[in-house]
Amino acid sequence: MLSDIQPHRIHENLYFVGSTKVSVHLLDTEEGLILIDTGYPEMYEQILESIVLLGFAGKDIRHIFHTHGHIDHIGCTERLKALSGAKTYISRIDNAIVNGTLDLSWSRELGYGPLSPTFDCDVLVEDGDVFSFGKTSVRCLLTPGHTDGVLSFVITLPDGTVAAMHGGTGMNTLNRDFLTAYALPFTCRDDFRAGLRRLAAEEVDFVLGNHPEQTGVTEKLEKLLKGESIQDRAEWQRFLLMMENRLDTMIADEARNA
Ligand SMILES: [Zn+2]
Repeated sequence: MLSDIQPHRIHENLYFVGSTKVSVHLLDTEEGLILIDTGYPEMYEQILESIVLLGFAGKDIRHIFHTHGHIDHIGCTERLKALSGAKTYISRIDNAIVNGTLDLSWSRELGYGPLSPTFDCDVLVEDGDVFSFGKTSVRCLLTPGHTDGVLSFVITLPDGTVAAMHGGTGMNTLNRDFLTAYALPFTCRDDFRAGLRRLAAEEVDFVLGNHPEQTGVTEKLEKLLKGESIQDRAEWQRFLLMMENRLDTMIADEARNA
């Protein structure tokens, strides 16, 4: 099944292999393929096909990083690991979601039933951890809020340019109704804001979204297909500010509708 977004190279060894529903990114490094997030459970064939269309093979995936423990980012991890033997990474905090200790995977809410199978990732990532794979490195920063263990990635590519992704900007777990229903602290909103401001200090050439509509993936693809550059050193700060504005708008709306 073909993806509704053509798999494509973003820059250097960084590729998009997701769909309009959720992003999946691929890095081709000297130490094998790296996948960032694994989509919804039903995306397994599509992700593998996208990887093949780019000239690679799913069995060559060696490392799988996860932004957070929600079902749309971990949905194919176990199958891809079974296929490739890849080592899996998630924050120590969100590993409690994927191993079933915390029932916050959104699996039930999105109609998949209880998260199954549950699993532990191989590498439990701490804030600030850097992983190097040849000339590519992935720096992991904890930016909680959307979940307690959201990881954002600052990726240095072989040519020295930097791509970055905020790992979780959805307001679906920050709104009043959700926090109340799940008895979660409203301070997660402050954590989210602090994470946005922390990330703003990074200098970024290529902004990645963990959902494509957040960062205009299809519009960027059109540019790439025309041979235009999508490098934009101001986009990262614009993106983070937009997310903070979105948070403020939600909080203001809730106050109005209290
Ligand atoms: Zn999520």
